[in-house]
Amino acid sequence: MSVSIDKPVTALAGVGPQMALKLARVHVHSVQDVLFHLPHRYEDRTSVTDMGALLPNLSTVVIGQIDLAQVVFGRRRSLLVRISDGTGSVTIRMFYFNRAQEKSFQRGLWVKCFGEVRPGAKGFEMIHPEYRVSATEPTGGLDSTLTPVYPTTEGVSQTLWRKITDQALQAALPQVQELVDARCLPEQMQGVYESASLQQAINALHRPTLNVNLASMQEATSSAHQRLIMEELIAHHFSLRKSRAAREHERAPLLEKDDELEQQFLANLGFTLTSAQQRVSGEVAHDLFRTMPSMRLVQGDVGSGKTVVAAMAMLQAVSARVQAVLMAPTELLAEQHYATIGKWFADLGIEVGWLASKTPAKQKRATLEKLASGELLVAVGTHALIQAAVEYKYLGLVVIDEQHRFGVEQRLALRSKTPEGQVPHQLVMTATPIPRTLAMTFYADLDVSSIDELPPGRKVVETVVIPAETRRAEVIQRVRVACQQGRQVYWVCPLIDESEVLEAQAATDTEQELKEVLTGLRIGLVHGRLKSKEKEAVMSDFREGKIDLLVATTVIEVGVDVPNASLMIIENAERMGLAQLHQLRGRVGRGSEQSFCILLYQVPLSQHAKLRLKTLRETNDGFLIAEKDLEIRGAGELLGTRQTGSITFKVADLIRDQHLLPLVNDCATKLAKLTPHRIDPLIDRWIGSKEEYVNA
Ligand code: ADP
Ligand code: MG
Repeated sequence: MSVSIDKPVTALAGVGPQMALKLARVHVHSVQDVLFHLPHRYEDRTSVTDMGALLPNLSTVVIGQIDLAQVVFGRRRSLLVRISDGTGSVTIRMFYFNRAQEKSFQRGLWVKCFGEVRPGAKGFEMIHPEYRVSATEPTGGLDSTLTPVYPTTEGVSQTLWRKITDQALQAALPQVQELVDARCLPEQMQGVYESASLQQAINALHRPTLNVNLASMQEATSSAHQRLIMEELIAHHFSLRKSRAAREHERAPLLEKDDELEQQFLANLGFTLTSAQQRVSGEVAHDLFRTMPSMRLVQGDVGSGKTVVAAMAMLQAVSARVQAVLMAPTELLAEQHYATIGKWFADLGIEVGWLASKTPAKQKRATLEKLASGELLVAVGTHALIQAAVEYKYLGLVVIDEQHRFGVEQRLALRSKTPEGQVPHQLVMTATPIPRTLAMTFYADLDVSSIDELPPGRKVVETVVIPAETRRAEVIQRVRVACQQGRQVYWVCPLIDESEVLEAQAATDTEQELKEVLTGLRIGLVHGRLKSKEKEAVMSDFREGKIDLLVATTVIEVGVDVPNASLMIIENAERMGLAQLHQLRGRVGRGSEQSFCILLYQVPLSQHAKLRLKTLRETNDGFLIAEKDLEIRGAGELLGTRQTGSITFKVADLIRDQHLLPLVNDCATKLAKLTPHRIDPLIDRWIGSKEEYVNA
């Protein structure tokens, strides 16, 4: 039986309207979408691993006999079952279990289980594995090939995915068209394309063959993977090109600048722009003086002076009597911009509004009214600025600080703020430069400017790397000396995975500890759990020199500017990403004093962590650090995924597959010439209905 590839998923047996709604949540609408809903990993139940040969993070089958089963009461009640097979042992740990389960684990019985191996307190553990208990040694029951695991959503089981992919493969695979002409491919890819057709590649990912190389499937290095990854990268690149082309048909307000006003602004600054600032500011000014909505990314190292460039763009909007807003990702950062820009603009008689989600209702209402009436031309704040309820008379420019890509909703929301279907100009500032290979392919929809020069007189921050265990006391002494000399110091507490509460707790403990040993110093504390008023109070005390030592979590990562702070201690630096450490370090070295950054680490250091710390010690150049970051992470490290923004892929991974990126742009250009009519079907196949969001 054949089913048309364009038919909705309900054409498949077992998929009714209810299930179709669930599948839509993972962007599966048509039969073709099912074929391109590829497994994101594979489980290997093809063989049994000896317990003596287990490796952490490996998912595998083990078979053994029960030595011991007991319920233990630690931080959480759990059931531990130790099984062994003569070569070693492993402990099954369950947090949820009933009496029957507890009783089924009788000493001497056999257990076959499948799960992920993790290092536990006493040897390897498997937490909630799939298992079966039997009286005799289980035999057989192993799979002949890898089991695909599909990305899924609530209410859609792996069994269902297997059922519908089976059907789609049988009924529609022969209809999948080759859309990438092999003549456009770089030489390196020719072999990959010859060894498998597109249809074979899709089939190979859904149903790995018996003799497949397991590692190449798990690591996505098989020919089938490479072929599909390349195609997906090309499709995404095309969608970005298309979004840029679409922008050329849209209209934005043409902003004419007022040279006199600008001169006055520059004269009040108290410093002269660096030539890099002048150049970039010129590029931005040129963008704004056009009716095509601009979208420019300004990258510049911490301290390179991006704020002035942003302010000058906003000034150009004001000159043309349209509104400009600046958004920052955190309230702390937004407040600082508000203070800086508020002061600069006050000197010119321009009022600056403030808007954040925590702004008191009455004040908020007043600001909202002024934005709607157009009385207020400039506002600074957080994402609150572009929420649906915020009306503008005529929003002409949106500046976003420290964010690589707009979230989907944010871009969509902007359209409604400008009259007559116009779109505001957009300017994004970032201190985390995009490595060149990424910029060419995955920022094809943006223009990029670089402020590649620091203001004069900046001293390079001297960085040292020190083991915390043995030399913490010495570091504390150094803090005392710096403060006694009138310097100010940051003490950054460890990043705790995903838990703001624990992170705040750690910072509070550190503050207590330092208060006890550093008597006489004025010590402040700032973390993400504080109310914004409290945070602001501490930060402004620090800025005004009323606090010597600021203990902080990573909330200070971006943008905070206190020139007198010349020493920074970062605890557990080995846990942080390169880009993040570089950002943190950028908080010092902002004044004329020689600044220092001490990276404290806990032993043992992983190979990657060692490389990161070494890179930081050796260079202050953000562009170099970004390249290095990609390189280290490409070698298999997962830290700070923020870099790649919000694009999601089915098979590709921008970090893992970075070696393919330089090939994409060129190949796409050739395809656009040779087979322009296949571009839309290609985008549709890989991005489909997500496209309107990606491009929005
Ligand atoms: P970032 O690029 O990290 O956002 P900022 O805009 O916060 O940098 O600028 C860092 C500091 O350098 C600020 O105190 C700012 O006033 C100052 N600054 C910016 N440009 C210059 C310049 N051309 N000469 C001297 N100081 C400058
Ligand atoms: Mg900044």
